[in-house]
Amino acid sequence: MSEKRKCSCGRVWSISKHHSPMRDKDSEHCHCGEELVSWNGGVFYRVSLIEDIKNDDKN
Ligand SMILES: [Zn+2]
Repeated sequence: MSEKRKCSCGRVWSISKHHSPMRDKDSEHCHCGEELVSWNGGVFYRVSLIEDIKNDDKN
C-alpha cells in the first residue's frame, strides 16, 4: 500500500506504510527539507524518490 506525494519543491515521492511491532516515532523529509510524513507508533513509512527535480542553476 503506497501513495504518491508531490512535494512543493516538485519532487515526487512514493510513500508506503508498514506496520511496526515496536512503538516508535519518526519522520521522513524531502531533500528540500520539507516533511513528507511523520508517525508516532505502530506504523512506519518508507519513502522513495520517483521523480527528481532538474537542477536549475542557470540563473
Ligand atoms: Zn521537497
